[in-house]
This record gives sequence, C-alpha cells and structure tokens, in this order.
Amino acid sequence: MSSSGVMNNLSHLNFDNRFVSDLPADVEQTHRLRQVRNACFSFMRPTPVKAPRLMAHAQEVADLLDITSEQCQSDEFAQVFAGNQMIDGMQPYAVCYGGHQFGNWAGQLGDGRAIALGEVLNTKGEHWEIQLKGAGPTPYSRRADGRAVLRSSIREFLCSEAMHHLGVPTTRALSLVTTGEEVWRDMMYDGNPKAEPGAVVCRVAPSFLRLGNYQILTVRNEIDNLKKLADFTIQNFYSHLGTPSKEVYGEWVKEVCERTAHMVVHWMRVGFVHGVMNTDNLSVLGLTIDYGPYGWLENYDPDWTPNTTDAQHRRYRYGAQPEIALWNLHRFAEAIYPLIQDVKPLEDALLHYAQVMQEEHRSMFLKKLGLTQDRGDADTTLIQNLLRCMQSTETDMTLFFRALAKLEVNEPASWLAQLKHVYYDPEDFERHHQEAMNDWLSAYGQRVNEEGLSDDERQKSMNAINPKYVMRNYLAQLAIDLAEEGDGSKVKELLEVMRRPYDEQPQYEDYAAKRPEWARRRVGCSMLSCSS
Ligand code: AMP
Ligand code: MG
Repeated sequence: MSSSGVMNNLSHLNFDNRFVSDLPADVEQTHRLRQVRNACFSFMRPTPVKAPRLMAHAQEVADLLDITSEQCQSDEFAQVFAGNQMIDGMQPYAVCYGGHQFGNWAGQLGDGRAIALGEVLNTKGEHWEIQLKGAGPTPYSRRADGRAVLRSSIREFLCSEAMHHLGVPTTRALSLVTTGEEVWRDMMYDGNPKAEPGAVVCRVAPSFLRLGNYQILTVRNEIDNLKKLADFTIQNFYSHLGTPSKEVYGEWVKEVCERTAHMVVHWMRVGFVHGVMNTDNLSVLGLTIDYGPYGWLENYDPDWTPNTTDAQHRRYRYGAQPEIALWNLHRFAEAIYPLIQDVKPLEDALLHYAQVMQEEHRSMFLKKLGLTQDRGDADTTLIQNLLRCMQSTETDMTLFFRALAKLEVNEPASWLAQLKHVYYDPEDFERHHQEAMNDWLSAYGQRVNEEGLSDDERQKSMNAINPKYVMRNYLAQLAIDLAEEGDGSKVKELLEVMRRPYDEQPQYEDYAAKRPEWARRRVGCSMLSCSS
C-alpha cells in the first residue's frame, strides 16, 4: 500500500509466456558474448540501473496491460520498467535473430539491448509481450553496451505512440524511464564520444518477431527450429490460416507480404521514413518496429533519408521504401523455402505484395486528394503532376494536404494566398513555380467538380487521412533538449498533441508549424546516425 492507500502493486499482472514455453532455449544463461545455436532465445535478466525515474508513460498502453494511472506513478513501476525489479511470472529473455543490413548478410544480431519480460495476458484475453530496450548486455550485444541514450529513447517512445494514433501499424511504448546513469556515445561517429543520460523504454506488441528470426535458423540449417518458430507464429498470430502445413506456410508468407504492404503504404501516406529497413528491423506481423534514425518528410523529397549512415547510397530513402520492403520479403521467402520446397507459392506471395502495394498506394493517394473515384490515366497524370510541383520547390507535405483540403475549389483567386505558408521559400515559389501550381489546382478543381463533391465533404474526408500533426524531427529534438536537463514536460505535451493528430487542436497550433530554418541542418533534426 502507498501512503495514499492505493494499491500500487503490479503483482496482479498475469503472465502467460508462450514464446519461452514453446520454443527452444539457449542452454547457457550468462551474457557472455557468443553465437547462440539451436535456440530461439536466451534467458537473461536485465542489469539494474542506479536511479530509475519515470519521465513519461502512455496510459492507453498501460490500459492494455490493466495498469492504472496511479500504479504508473508508483516507485515500483519505475523500478520494474527499468529492469531493477521482477514481478512473479516474468521470465526475462533476449531473442536470437540475424539480418541483412544495408543489403548484406550480417550473421547473428539478436536482442543486444532489448530484454523481453514476458507476455501479459490481460483481462480481455489478449497477450502483450513487454520488452525493455536499453536493459543491459545480452549474449547478442556484440561490442556494444546494451544501453540506450535518453534522446533515442524519447524518439522511440514518442514515435511509437504517434504512429499508433496516426493509424499506422506499430509496436507501442508503455514507459520512458531515465536511469540516472551515463552512457558514452560518439553521436556522429567522428571521434567525439561524450557522456549522455541513459534511459529504458518499455515497448509493447503482440510479438517482436522479425524477418531475421527466421533467416538465422535457415542460414544455420536449423530447419527443425525454423519449423517450430514458423508454427508458433502461425498458431499464435495467424491462426485464421489453419493448422500449419506446406500450403499454410505459403499462405502465411503471402499474408506477411500483404501486411508489410499495408504498413509501407501508411508510411508513404504520413511521410514517415524508417531509415534502417534491414531485415532484422522488419516485423513478421507487419508492425513498424525499431525506431532509430527515422524521420518525417518535411519538404516533399522522395530522395530524402534522415540516416547519415546511409547518406551515400540512400538505400532507405522515402521513395525507395516500397521496393526495399519487397527486397526484404524476398529474403524472408528464401528463409521459409525449406518448409515448402516449392518456389511457386513464394513467387505468388511476392507478386501479391507488388499488386497490393500498387493498388493501395494509388487509392491512398486519391484519398489524400479527397477523390472517391479512380479515373485511370487521367488521375495518374494528376498525381504525377502534383508530385512534380511539390518536389520542384520545397513544399511541406503535411501542411500542403491540410491546406489543399481547405481550398474552395470554385474560388481560384483565393488559392495561392492560402497555400503560401506551405512553402519553405515562398519567393522561389512565387517566382518560378506559382504558375505550374495554379495550372495543377485548376485541373484539380475541375476533377473535384466532376465528382460533384462539396468543399465540406471533401475537407472532412481529406482531414481524416491527412494528419495536421506529425512527429516532426525538430519537435522531438526540442523535447529532447529540455529532457536532457531533467524536464520531461515537452515529451508529455508532444505525446498529448500526437494523441489526436487529425484534429485541429488550435491550442497546439505551434506543433503544426513547418520546420524552422535553424533546424534545417541541425543534428537530430535533419541528420541522425545509428548511434543510440
Ligand atoms: P539496430 O540497427 O538498432 O536495429 O541494431 C542492430 C543490432 O545492434 C541489434 O542486434 C541491436 O540489438 C544491436 N545494438 C544496437 N545498439 C546496441 C547497444 N547499445 N548495445 C548492444 N547492442 C546494440
Ligand atoms: Mg533493430
């Protein structure tokens, strides 16, 4: 009991740890670095931290776990979700996976700093895996320390929740706990390491399984274990496909392809750039996972990537995400092949991805424009011309679609004035691009009138798919700057704004502003590295 008489105890959490019960465990339980063979995971306790303090939590996620807001404020909560204290039923473990990084097979990776605590079975009968990120070394830590810095933890915490409220499939984040410990990082890999505050984020998802979990087993020729893991995945997360069989494995790969396509279309819709689409960072459930050097398109530029580690080849740039996801799914299909031994269903699954991607990407774009019908080639031209206009002069993608929704299509004289604020260089726009934009707006106005949509109707449907608020890189950085001085208020405020990204929320207007000039080249705002 706390002094207020409220039960803060978290012992009511009910664990049903399917992953560790059903799958083979590593025989060793130390965090000695090693290749972990013939196992899907290693039992591993988090390493305690000095002084855990809760900086922020997401109550919607706590609700999923049947944890009240009072319980979240207790000292026990901070202790548990920093990894300092275990609750009955927890069986902490780190998972083994491999992956292709930037196009090359990288061998064993695994949870180098993430430790799952177990699977909570809530009162609704749902299973939620809870996992600490930054919880200390594991057998998979390679040369790194198993910890996470506050800045990257804030970015993961905020973006997971922002994505959820934007309607993008994603892992969730329960809590952000500072550790009272320092972590050394060379942020830009330029020989200037410095001590930064550390943190632990508790992530929550039905499962954190990645494409790389299956790959590592196939590469090691552990086909029995591959079958066990595939069957586990199907039985628990794809049970509608039926009892695992060769046919069902094919159907499963096809659905993984389809879910991945849905997810990437959502990314394209909201202007999200993942930044590190390695096969170990792609979820087998089609959830956005592992928020590292991600970013949000501000000025529309399909070639943009926030990840400085990828600056040269831009493999993971915004515009390449649909094709890179497909490349990753090819690697996944290869990993599952031994269970099917027939390429046809796998080829079909990959073709299915391409088809779903094309159809959904297109219909998503028409919806962004407020159009309800598809008029074939004429609409293709309309879309292409718009993208050309947006790219030719720096156009804030998020602001543009909200402004377009507001336009009165039969009042052409008012159009340009209403769009001015969406351009980063209004003079350049006026001088060189205004005419082309006006032409496009005329074509758009005509197209809208052909469908007979009223401005009101159109605005409503557009505002339901085009967010007003996204987790702009510079906003996260402002929250980080304060948090590094111990003030988590902006983290909480941003979380609050991002809970209703499609609503006007006039009191938060500042959070919808386009990127200020100072943020254009600031590290953390437009440039991020994998150092986290
Ligand atoms: P990422 O690119 O962040 O997805 O990480 C790739 C691999 O590096 C994963 O196996 C991570 O667990 C591991 N990793 C990243 N940072 C650390 C760290 N500080 N300590 C241990 N392992 C890490
Ligand atoms: Mg990762």
